[in-house]
Amino acid sequence: MEYKVNNEEMRYLVKDVFDLETQWKDIDRFSELSTDDALAILSESGRIASEVMAPLNFSGDTEGCRLENGIVKVPSGFQEAFKLITEGGWLGFSGNPEFDGQGMPKSLGCLVEEMFWAANTSLYLYGTLTVGAAMCIEEHGTPEQKNLYLPRLYSGKWTGAMALTESHAGTDLGIMRTKALEQSDGTYSISGQKIFITSGEHELAENIVHLTLARLPDAPAGSKGISLFIVPKYLPRDDGSPGDRNNWFSSSLESKMGVKGSATSVINYDGATGFLLGSENGGLLSMFTMMNYERLSVGLQGLGAIDVAYQLSAAYAKDRVQGRSPSGPKNPEEVADSLLVHPDVRRMLLTQRAYAEACRAFGVYVGHQLDRATHLKDQKSKRISELLTPVVKAFFTDKGFECAVMGQQVLGGHGYIKDWGLEQIVRDARIGQIYEGTNGVQANDLVSRKIVRDGGVTMREFIAEMRSADLSSDYEQNFSEQCDLLLDLTDHIVNQAEQDPEFPGSISVDYLDLVGHVVCAWCWALMASNASGDDFGRAKTITAKFFYERLLPRSLGLAENIRATSNVAMQMPAELF
Ligand SMILES: Cc1cc2nc3c(=O)[nH]c(=O)nc-3n(C[C@H](O)[C@H](O)[C@H](O)COP(=O)(O)OP(=O)(O)OC[C@H]3O[C@@H](n4cnc5c(N)ncnc54)[C@H](O)[C@@H]3O)c2cc1C
Repeated sequence: MEYKVNNEEMRYLVKDVFDLETQWKDIDRFSELSTDDALAILSESGRIASEVMAPLNFSGDTEGCRLENGIVKVPSGFQEAFKLITEGGWLGFSGNPEFDGQGMPKSLGCLVEEMFWAANTSLYLYGTLTVGAAMCIEEHGTPEQKNLYLPRLYSGKWTGAMALTESHAGTDLGIMRTKALEQSDGTYSISGQKIFITSGEHELAENIVHLTLARLPDAPAGSKGISLFIVPKYLPRDDGSPGDRNNWFSSSLESKMGVKGSATSVINYDGATGFLLGSENGGLLSMFTMMNYERLSVGLQGLGAIDVAYQLSAAYAKDRVQGRSPSGPKNPEEVADSLLVHPDVRRMLLTQRAYAEACRAFGVYVGHQLDRATHLKDQKSKRISELLTPVVKAFFTDKGFECAVMGQQVLGGHGYIKDWGLEQIVRDARIGQIYEGTNGVQANDLVSRKIVRDGGVTMREFIAEMRSADLSSDYEQNFSEQCDLLLDLTDHIVNQAEQDPEFPGSISVDYLDLVGHVVCAWCWALMASNASGDDFGRAKTITAKFFYERLLPRSLGLAENIRATSNVAMQMPAELF
């Protein structure tokens, strides 16, 4: 597959739109980092994405993973490519340098991750779980656990996996059954079965570190009775080298719609040795460190899907000739004009592009809020990043799937045929809406936990923050009206939730979509305000206009849904379904 990173776009975001170099001056760890350094790093990650990862995307999908005698074989080329990624330090990109991480800002990390997701989603899945596991151990581990696991995870010598789901317990982890029994030496014996475990077993690394949720015998029922354990494939010896094989095995691989190069295992724990991470019964809360990282990362997977779908479908549309322009032939010497003359094809291409560029800026903004929250302990940034995490996860992956299908549509019948790649992008993008907490669950998190619980205070704070930016006058008025709409609906939801506990869940998906559109409108206003008169700037100005004219009005329909609902869906008696 062909995949290219637009370096001009990187410069534009890093320098012109967010002026990150100036922002980084406030944060000790990044104060020496310049725009040029940042762009050199992004150019190198772009090279890895296009030259190392993208060429294996289609072959990895065709070949898939195989389970042979308990060992999972990954597609050809993945081993070598993963080695190059890890040797370049890319897994430890934003990791703590005290433990051999690279110590780079998350605002840049978001751009790097998007490239890796876009180039090869299956391959990058082995990496993202590793980073999430490391972050969880860094936050909740003992000094010994951090010293043992973090350098090995950040270097990619060992990889990570997240073992939560059981066949009867997905969203509702409170009913999971995997058991943990304390042993006389202070370790725990873990027994049970987990399903759907991404990167649970493979041969890319010398050890695989499962972060596994299990229940102690005397634990309270529900989510308050779950503990978190580090359950490595090989038990580390005193010197840290992998020792005895632990007692868990991959009994089968899931047969999936997409991400076929990513090994998704059923894992059986038969009295496997686990090490408690964090406190007994505090496991679900600790796991949220990993889940929140993964949610942001999965959002970037969605963004990667939009970008690569756009790149492939735009290239095809320029090349393919079919029919004539409605305003007369544009290429009379050819038998037909290119697809680009058709307004509907342009609608599809610009929809993809407008969401991709807005979400990219949105991701950089959230990454920077996380940097401020982590390194400056800025509480406002922490609140805003928590508020926006479910929006990034669900909005980006919803648009990822919508735009992948749109890219496929641009190719007509060829989009349905394997050779052109779009059908794989559609299949791979779909999982982003489902794992890491379905998008319906993200929307509930936004509305019930982030809006209703604090009476809309953080959302009001965030809207004030967006309004304080210096925006181009072309969009100021329209954007301000969108903020009024969002404020009004936020108050409406807070009020309605008091009267009807089922109301938040009935409008949460619409509300999240609306928030995503308003934040994208802000990003487009910021980007248009910084657009110059050259071709790059002209394209930005036109795409901003397209977003405001053709995509932002979706918010009005969403607002009507939220206001008009009488919660009619709940009126249907269960027996009539
Ligand atoms: C390819 C793949 C990779 C995966 N990787 C991992 C992994 O690495 N580790 C891991 O632990 N898990 C993993 N999962 C599991 C994934 O996170 C779950 O499938 C997902 O969280 C949903 O759980 P479920 O499938 O049990 O669906 P259910 O929880 O049964 O949900 C079914 C439907 O009901 C809705 N629903 C359920 N409860 C609620 C609620 N309270 N409010 C509103 N709606 C609700 C959901 O939104 C969904 O639409 C993976 C899954 C797949 C397919």
